Amino acid sequence: MTPSLSTRLAHAGRTADVQGGQPVNPPVVRASTVLFDSVAQQREMRTRRDSERLFTYGARGNPTNFALEDMVTALEGGYRTRLFPSGLAAAAMTILAYVRPGQHVLLPDCVYEPVRNLANGFLRQHGIATDFYAADGADLQARLRADTRLVYVEAPGSLAYEICDLPAVAAMAHAHGALVAADNTWGSGVLYRPLELGADISLMAATKYLGGHSDVMMGTVCTTEAAWPELAAMTDAFGMTVSPDDAYLVQRGIRSLGARLAQHQQSALTVARWLRDRPEVADVLCPALPGDPNHALWQRDCHGTNGLLSFTLRTRAPVAPERFVDSLGLFGIGASWGGFESLAVLADMRRARSVTDWSGHGVVIRLHIGLEAVDDLLADLAQAFDAIADLASTEQESSHVDHR
Ligand SMILES: *Cc1c(COP(=O)(O)O)cnc(C)c1O
Repeated sequence: MTPSLSTRLAHAGRTADVQGGQPVNPPVVRASTVLFDSVAQQREMRTRRDSERLFTYGARGNPTNFALEDMVTALEGGYRTRLFPSGLAAAAMTILAYVRPGQHVLLPDCVYEPVRNLANGFLRQHGIATDFYAADGADLQARLRADTRLVYVEAPGSLAYEICDLPAVAAMAHAHGALVAADNTWGSGVLYRPLELGADISLMAATKYLGGHSDVMMGTVCTTEAAWPELAAMTDAFGMTVSPDDAYLVQRGIRSLGARLAQHQQSALTVARWLRDRPEVADVLCPALPGDPNHALWQRDCHGTNGLLSFTLRTRAPVAPERFVDSLGLFGIGASWGGFESLAVLADMRRARSVTDWSGHGVVIRLHIGLEAVDDLLADLAQAFDAIADLASTEQESSHVDHR
């Protein structure tokens, strides 16, 4: 019997090579210079290091980082992994590794906003053409071009958790000679497995659930064997590396990933159902909820949900979302998610999307449900609804417009 993922993560990445007993955790190896016995050995290591994973210089990785790479490879089910200083760096470097000036990239309408900005700014300035396709992939076939080199996927997507049919997207892209890179930050390698669904490259912001404690920035990219050489060449050319202390923190976070995600899921589902039944709420965006437009694909392709959900208020009073979030006591107001703590942010969907019309929703409130007791979180949300009750009563009649 193959052990389950949580079991494998408890045991993976123990690459200690010491005399005597073995530590449970790999040591933190801080190194720039690595010493060799002879010039001949150094020469030999240098000729082999492009194809083998060898400890030859700090910028080429070190044993702590290698152990984390192995854990991420186990999570993603891929060939090998490289580490980047942030999730955004992982996304940007992935595009630069595979796409040349004069080529074309397709990005989903639900893409993490800084990647959208990268496409519209830096990539275009450097001669890489970019277009956006509908988050469900409906118009992808029509947007594929002869020079499309990469189809970028984010499923479930940022803020509204749209899910595309990744096997179908991959089949279309591959038929056009394009590669598929997926941002798997939502799934964290546990809830969604893009490489098994047809993607060639899967990247994650380890800053989120892998680190899990809001104290480290990192990105990971794992690929199939066929896609590996281009990623490795780019990483080496740019000198991309991370601190072994940070690699150690992410590795420590991953040990409890399965248990944390199970708790995030349970509490987030409780909050999602509770919000759905509140009279002040127009829409709850959470693919794990029956009735969500992405529920069928979530059931087919995902292995659970995490602590994320978004919702919109029925009142159209412009001050309502901001007053609601300001009234929360236990939810922090801050970017990112995936740590142990609950967070709330506002997102204007009219600005965050360019292909699909989200004017019916306007501003959504994005919650990250942390590891606090869920009854305390519900009580906090309830008192925030009380704080906007006067706004709701005057604007109650404006009903939700279904735009999808
Ligand atoms: C946060 C996030 C990133 C970027 O990660 P950083 O480590 O913050 O740079 C990329 N993709 C998604 C979907 C994210 O949520």
